[in-house]
Amino acid sequence: MPSPSACAGPENEWAGVTGPQRREDLSDLEGYHSPQVDVAVRLNTNESPYPPPPEFFEAWTAEVSRASAHRYPDRAARQLRSALGEFLGQPSGRLFCANGSNEVLQTLLLTYGGPGRTALVFEPSYVLHAHIARITGTGVVTGERRPDFTLDPDTAVRLVEDHDPDVVFLTTPNNPTGMVEPRETVEALVERITVRAKPGVLVVDEAYAEFSPWSAIDMVADGVPLVVARTYSKVWSMAAFRLGFGVAPETIVDELEMVVLPYHLSVPTQVAGTVALRFTGDMDSRVSSIMTERDRVGAALAALDGVEAFPSGANFILFRVGGHPRTPGAAADGQATWEGLLEAGVLVRNFARWPRLDDCLRVTIGRPEENDAFLAALKEVLAS
Ligand code: PMP
Repeated sequence: MPSPSACAGPENEWAGVTGPQRREDLSDLEGYHSPQVDVAVRLNTNESPYPPPPEFFEAWTAEVSRASAHRYPDRAARQLRSALGEFLGQPSGRLFCANGSNEVLQTLLLTYGGPGRTALVFEPSYVLHAHIARITGTGVVTGERRPDFTLDPDTAVRLVEDHDPDVVFLTTPNNPTGMVEPRETVEALVERITVRAKPGVLVVDEAYAEFSPWSAIDMVADGVPLVVARTYSKVWSMAAFRLGFGVAPETIVDELEMVVLPYHLSVPTQVAGTVALRFTGDMDSRVSSIMTERDRVGAALAALDGVEAFPSGANFILFRVGGHPRTPGAAADGQATWEGLLEAGVLVRNFARWPRLDDCLRVTIGRPEENDAFLAALKEVLAS
């Protein structure tokens, strides 16, 4: 065995020995790119600009301090699931809780995806659907949205018929476009998946549904191949806690529980999720001020020359600068605009060089003064 000091020296016995080899099917995998930069105005990750109220932290710390820290947490997260079930008007057996909705999505793919199976996504959409699919060895079938980012329901249903996917992802409101999918599209997909000879599941990702006019949760029923994924990260102002959940038929929840790691959800997280539900009034008023601000920012963006703002039912707005295809001689392009905003101390999400999203940026709705700072900086960058 070489000693640790040998590793540092020129005669390193490990020289030439390569590290572990990443799985071949992951060779072109890229990590999740959303820079965490320390700037004055952070509007890039769709977090809530408001923390939960002080009373939430008092109740949470009091309950956590009474917990038996030397024991594992309740594996079935019974208190949390029953409080959530009551809040949503669903039996607790239909709730699967996890570390962020990302873990819900991962567990779904570990359970229903995998080698030899496929997931259907409609791009552009939330990048982690395809990313986690690849990590779990699931093949990805890419459906396209129209150039204005709306989804043609007939195309969506045809893709299900043609490819027989095991998992279908639909995000509403969609990230990063902000658009709300009509209920009819979800109904058409559920119907198509239900009647196929090969069973599959539709995952409706509703990370932002509380900002939008409707939810598919009331379509969840025993025997219906539908899972709705939700998160505490946005409207509950709890991104730091990492808590999300799926609403699904009990048979699906039971299968997910068999796959997910035991004791994956810590006591502080379970308690936080339960306690938060006592502060629904605060949540509602945060959501309504964010929606008011969203409409104000959307109107201000639409009034800017050379900016196309897309309609949003979420807490963010996607916008494009420079025209599409780029207006010849256009003063602005997405990349330069993103850099100019960053120089002015405003961080937004940069999609300027992403496929289908050329020259697009996405701004999260913040506090009124942050939104003002963003709009002022954008005007200045576009004018320069
Ligand atoms: N789904 C969508 C559409 C999202 O935008 C996000 C967060 N960016 C998530 C899921 C994951 O949320 P979390 O893991 O924080 O619950």
